[in-house]
Amino acid sequence: MGPRGTGGWAGRAGAPAPGRTCLLPLLLCAALRSLRASPGSEVNLLDSRTVMGDLGWIAYPKNGWEEIGEVDENYAPIHTYQVCKVMEQNQNNWLLTSWISNEGASRIFIELKFTLRDCNSLPGGLGTCKETFNMYYFESDDEDGRNIKENQYIKIDTIAADESFTELDLGDRVMKLNTEVRDVGPLTKKGFYLAFQDVGACIALVSVRVYYKKCPSVIRNLARFPDTITGADSSQLLEVSGVCINHSVTEEAPKMHCSAEGEWLVPIGKCLCKAGYEEKNNTCQAPSPVSTVKKGKITKNSISLSWQEPDRPNGIILEYEIKYFEKDQETSYTIIKSKETTITADGLKPGSAYVFQIRARTAAGYGGFSRRFEFETSPVLAASSDQSQIPIIVVSVTVGVILLAVVIGFLLSGRRCGYSKAKQDPEEEKMHFHNGHIKLPGVRTYVDPHTYEDPNQAVHEFAKEIEASCITIERVIGAGEFGEVCSGRLKLQGKREFPVAIKTLKVGYTEKQRRDFLGEASIMGQFDHPNIIHLEGVVTKSKPVMIVTEYMENGSLDTFLKKNDGQFTVIQLVGMLRGIASGMKYLSDMGYVHRDLAARNILINSNLVCKVSDFGLSRVLEDDPEAAYTTRGGKIPIRWTAPEAIAFRKFTSASDVWSYGIVMWEVMSYGERPYWEMTNQDVIKAVEEGYRLPSPMDCPAALYQLMLDCWQKDRNSRPKFDEIVSMLDKLIRNPSSLKTLVNASSRVSNLLVEHSPVGSGAYRSVGEWLEAIKMGRYTEIFMENGYSSMDAVAQVTLEDLRRLGVTLVGHQKKIMNSLQEMKVQLVNGMVPL
Ligand code: AMP
Repeated sequence: MGPRGTGGWAGRAGAPAPGRTCLLPLLLCAALRSLRASPGSEVNLLDSRTVMGDLGWIAYPKNGWEEIGEVDENYAPIHTYQVCKVMEQNQNNWLLTSWISNEGASRIFIELKFTLRDCNSLPGGLGTCKETFNMYYFESDDEDGRNIKENQYIKIDTIAADESFTELDLGDRVMKLNTEVRDVGPLTKKGFYLAFQDVGACIALVSVRVYYKKCPSVIRNLARFPDTITGADSSQLLEVSGVCINHSVTEEAPKMHCSAEGEWLVPIGKCLCKAGYEEKNNTCQAPSPVSTVKKGKITKNSISLSWQEPDRPNGIILEYEIKYFEKDQETSYTIIKSKETTITADGLKPGSAYVFQIRARTAAGYGGFSRRFEFETSPVLAASSDQSQIPIIVVSVTVGVILLAVVIGFLLSGRRCGYSKAKQDPEEEKMHFHNGHIKLPGVRTYVDPHTYEDPNQAVHEFAKEIEASCITIERVIGAGEFGEVCSGRLKLQGKREFPVAIKTLKVGYTEKQRRDFLGEASIMGQFDHPNIIHLEGVVTKSKPVMIVTEYMENGSLDTFLKKNDGQFTVIQLVGMLRGIASGMKYLSDMGYVHRDLAARNILINSNLVCKVSDFGLSRVLEDDPEAAYTTRGGKIPIRWTAPEAIAFRKFTSASDVWSYGIVMWEVMSYGERPYWEMTNQDVIKAVEEGYRLPSPMDCPAALYQLMLDCWQKDRNSRPKFDEIVSMLDKLIRNPSSLKTLVNASSRVSNLLVEHSPVGSGAYRSVGEWLEAIKMGRYTEIFMENGYSSMDAVAQVTLEDLRRLGVTLVGHQKKIMNSLQEMKVQLVNGMVPL
């Protein structure tokens, strides 16, 4: 019973097919042309507009829905079904689609475009006329399910029009095309049928598009993430593992989360280019080998060499490695490291040929070795037959050997930035010297630029000099302490131009200002992490002096959140917090204490990736407008700073954790000012007395709990940044854990929340005991898991605590110690459990 339309493909675009009721406005074809194409993350399973031949849909009864033949300006058919039995009683007209494969998707979306006539415009039809129709589906593994009964279809929804049209609209040729989207899932079979039921409306179903959503394949943090079909549940986040791209290796297992909307959220972990390769436009390519090596002074025991930087350094060259050996003696070789493009290899045999190879190292690792260059030492003077010379030669050789040993010892002591030795020990080969200290691979530590006698040396150690001509300044985007901050573009040789932020040093600066300004670059240049603002380089050889960093389209986080109040999902906010925590973990691992962590010092880019910034040397003391003088004379951003740092300048990663808790509060409250308009003095007093910020509105309880953990008075009880990162990861993996919000009645909107000191004595309930040891957050979990009496609690083991989700070691200790104490007291007959 193929539902061929009464008119067939009769008309040209816009021409009504003969013999049918005109329901469609005449401008329909024009409007259809402008229908939105499906976005990249939506995959069509069916789009009735693009099917060239028969759709194969079935109308039942035959005189219900009818297909009307329209073609567009390219004579392509427009499949439109209409029904308009508004004057007749008891209508039950079904339109059944053909079988649609779901291609493995378990949630599908149906977008309907239709017009619906206003019953008021139909004189006489009011009694029977309807303004809705129903949509159904039936799942089936194959096309055999087609003949099932109507009552086996499952209803998706009743569809009503936002806009119905009247005769008048038609006369004016006003187009009122409705678009409605519904979703269905989880689907368990291979495909399904859709059905549209009319019960007496005047409808033209213009198009039906069925699609699923996917997170399209991307490369992020050097890992490739595959096309991923979204989950069955509309709030589900699928954790997807990435695969490191060619020439890169895993640093931290790369993962992202595919949301039900087809967006990639919360990137975690990353890959790094392998040694010898550098990251460039989401790929890894190695620095090119040194191509030209020239010999310099040659004596009978030494050869001096010089060479040119590789044609494509692909980064800042940190040092060169020179490998040499006596020709045909390759198994016994010597390695020298040099920051210069010249070396002298001494202690060589006279009149012997030596083979040299050189390679460059950038932050990404070593490039390939150059080709082999062969040079010969000068021959010894003609040997004397006078045997009396022999002792002199022996003495000379001995002295030479001793001197050589001294030189090698000197080099190995690290006073020069290089070392030389025969036969490489694979461990030692990775060792390098930095500022007089031996540094082991993998244990990178932050070097305070203050330790350099000459601060310019620090800048050039850690920052690349950029020629001013490579920079185009476009506009001023902010005001820094030392001058304007601009956006612009950087064009480096062999690289595509890309957007950057440029901090300038204002004219008339003092030497100290210049030093402090460039100090930030010396610090920033030591960091390499996706959540730390990346330094491109500095301009110091011309004026104005500039610091060039990656450009963060959305500027500082506090302003951005204020501007977009209430616009993000909790997962997006947690993603931002996760990024900041990950950046801070990196800084604390490097031994760097930030001291001014606040949302105003976080920058956010167009992908909502947050990066920690603001690494000024004397910044905390001088340039932060939030910083206030303390009684001890220091200038400190009071609202963000831990009590011990305010009271006795104890700045540590644990005080950064306190500030991180405040940043969490700022983020969850979309840039609200911590402690509102309270004075700094009142804030210090309140915090000292045990009061804490209340939960922001609509804040998941787990996040507020984390804030409170960060604000523990005892800095050792605060979580570490790695614990914070894992905790946020856990919440992201399990978004339902974010659904429990802080109880509105327990939120105190404009008062601080009291955190009373640990209590003691006998406890009447588990809740009272947990509250007293400040572990009240676990009361519910204890109760739910059967630990509802102190008797039951007395049996709790460490393993039980872990199972209950008490993962913080500090909390486990607190609970176990308190239990232990109570048991001892019980033994002594003091406290009845
Ligand atoms: P700062 O001196 O680092 O506090 O920068 C002053 C202001 O300039 C910031 O608040 C931002 O609005 C803007 N800004 C600084 N660095 C960048 C950047 N890398 N990308 C975009 N905006 C920036």
